[in-house]
Amino acid sequence: MAAGYEAVFSTEGALVGFQSTLCDWFDESGKDYPWRQTRDPYAILVSELMLQQTQIATVLGKGYYRRWMAQFGDWEALAQAKEQDILKAWEGLGYYNRARNLQKAAIRICDDYGGNCPRDPDGLERLPGVGRYTAGAVASFAFEARAPIVDGNVARVLSRLFNFREPVDTTFGQKFLWDCAERMTPSERVRSYNSAIMELGQQVCTKRMPDCVECPVSEWCRGKGNEGLEALPLKKAKVAITQKNESVVILIREGRVFLEREAGRRRNGLWKLPEISPSQTEDLEELMSFDYAITRFKVSLKVFELPSAVEGKFTADREGNWYKFNDEASLPPLGSPYRKAIRKYQNFHDGS
Ligand code: SF4
Repeated sequence: MAAGYEAVFSTEGALVGFQSTLCDWFDESGKDYPWRQTRDPYAILVSELMLQQTQIATVLGKGYYRRWMAQFGDWEALAQAKEQDILKAWEGLGYYNRARNLQKAAIRICDDYGGNCPRDPDGLERLPGVGRYTAGAVASFAFEARAPIVDGNVARVLSRLFNFREPVDTTFGQKFLWDCAERMTPSERVRSYNSAIMELGQQVCTKRMPDCVECPVSEWCRGKGNEGLEALPLKKAKVAITQKNESVVILIREGRVFLEREAGRRRNGLWKLPEISPSQTEDLEELMSFDYAITRFKVSLKVFELPSAVEGKFTADREGNWYKFNDEASLPPLGSPYRKAIRKYQNFHDGS
């Protein structure tokens, strides 16, 4: 354990004071999200997986969590659902393996655990898609198990609290954070404490502007007032972003749009607008273009209209299906860029 921890929590009393101050602050000021009103491990796992790589504002504000819980209300309902329905409900959240893993976890719980979710972090971590953070979150939020958690918010708070000046995305950095979290997690009020330390990172010890004046635990903080505080936690140098170009066509016939299945494991089960090579675009009219980002790629997407005269030859060479164009619900699960292109096309034609 790095010396920073011992300097802050030199006595058991200091740690107890920190824990109770943080929990009291949370009980008074914490936000009241739907997953904080339940002890249902299923609902908590759904929220945790949705919130990986997706903002709370999207998950809640755009109704994803509410709709998902209405459609797949428990392990059994999700275990029995069709993959296409699951991907459709997840459409727009991206990183679709989260949805697939959620279903695999539900199947495992129904088949191997008699419908009862494991209560301890080790058992939870054996479920598909559940890592150390998620296991700790479900164990502590649903079962009050003493389980530490480290997500991006907690990593920021701990780095600043201990003025930790090493990259946190290394084995050494991760060990430091998890060791600290392990020692700091109380045996009682675990649910409140874990929620509180995350909330502190979301609301007070924020990325750009830590509000040390209003911070409930500033008296324990070694980082406050130090130069470069806002840059913590430190990370290794970023992977370079690669630029790619992509060309697709919109092909409409009798109110239906032609779509193809995505290739590749990551996007398996999703559909897209048909892709064409740049040499095939020379005589086509470009309808729109925009950029999107995926993993380490920045993609410039160009969308062309295919004349109806060549439609037969084009679709004969491809494996795809026609879907009702103006009915969002009858479209299969689509990658976000293609859904955006279809919506723009609809808006343009509705307005013309
Ligand atoms: S005192 Fe400032 S830097 Fe320290 S934990 Fe609070 S907000 Fe973060």
